[in-house]
Amino acid sequence: MTPSHEHERYDVGIAGAGQLARMTCLAAWPLGLRVAVLGSPDEPAGLVAGGVVPGNWKDPEAIRALGSVCNVVTLENEFVDAGVLAEVAASGTPVYPRPESLGVIQDKALQKALLDSCGLPVPPHVVVENPSELTSVGRDFGWPLVLKARKLGYDGYGNATCATPAEAEDAFSRLDAGEGVLAEAFVPFVCELATMVARSTRGEEAVYPVCETIQRDHVCTEVVVPARVDEDVRQEARRVARAAALAADGLGVTGVEMFLLSDGRVLVNELAPRPHNSGHYSIEACETSQFENHLRGILGLSLGPPLLRAPSAAMVNILGTTTGPSRPGLAAALSVRGAHLHLYDKAEVRVRRKMGHVTTLAGSADEALEIARSAVQRVAL
Ligand code: ADP
Repeated sequence: MTPSHEHERYDVGIAGAGQLARMTCLAAWPLGLRVAVLGSPDEPAGLVAGGVVPGNWKDPEAIRALGSVCNVVTLENEFVDAGVLAEVAASGTPVYPRPESLGVIQDKALQKALLDSCGLPVPPHVVVENPSELTSVGRDFGWPLVLKARKLGYDGYGNATCATPAEAEDAFSRLDAGEGVLAEAFVPFVCELATMVARSTRGEEAVYPVCETIQRDHVCTEVVVPARVDEDVRQEARRVARAAALAADGLGVTGVEMFLLSDGRVLVNELAPRPHNSGHYSIEACETSQFENHLRGILGLSLGPPLLRAPSAAMVNILGTTTGPSRPGLAAALSVRGAHLHLYDKAEVRVRRKMGHVTTLAGSADEALEIARSAVQRVAL
């Protein structure tokens, strides 16, 4: 597997081939950037990439192979082995975000400790190494208690909200991989907010509008931007998100998930060292999408403005509701005017699996949401 122009390397290599890599590839083409992804040719990004390095992001050899054909390596998930990425960087191919930064972010306990030590507001939290400590942690933080696996958690896989010490002990045995689990106080948030902070290797920064994210069963289902909260709250969320991305040395796009409390305080829930589901709306709704700014940031190019092109936008995820071959209702969804449809071309649908999304721009959040929901219903996956 070599780039089409002989003796040249790919501009960027992405350690994965899912939907985030796919949308990054689609942002790369108009700029004349060639992107290689790591995976198989029939994965969402394998189908649209400039090149595919065969293999799996969990395989150190495959990561090294990706590094050997690219000028810069980046990620679409935070679980890639930071030690292997450090080797790739040491051998001369820069990796952004930096492996050191990734090593902290990919461990929820280290990430929380870093944010805390930088004075950022986070929920009360502690690492529990022995299940016998859970009763006293519950007494301190109050019940329910949220337990989180330190590594490899996503879309709620790896989290448990526990109402009693017995439930917490049960969850502990499932979530502990030998280094303890992160226990957090349950946050009675008013709503969840998110934004993306793009930072370039040349020191530029662009902060996206603050959006409101709605999760069902721990999976993000809907995003509304700007968030329907006071301007003061949006300003505070921007301040917190910028500081968090800086603290974590984020390069390219960092997604920042936050909780809004009833007294107006904003807490950081977690960081994602890559483009984020809450930023998919930016493809149509912002002057520069999160995917393009991720590429610009890691390549040391000028960042583009993240400004909204409409008063409001909404994004609704298309989540699987059945299991089997995927047969999206393309024609029915496209009959909804104003709905921008994105399908990730996954051959198999599974319950809760992210199969695509719809973005709409409108004069109000309600209008944008209504159009997007109607298109998603018609896809009917
Ligand atoms: P994942 O990495 O699996 O996405 P998160 O830690 O982001 O897990 O949590 C997923 C969702 O669970 C959050 O968006 C929020 O709705 C809920 N959640 C997480 N932590 C807490 C908490 N401490 N209190 C209340 N809800 C929480």
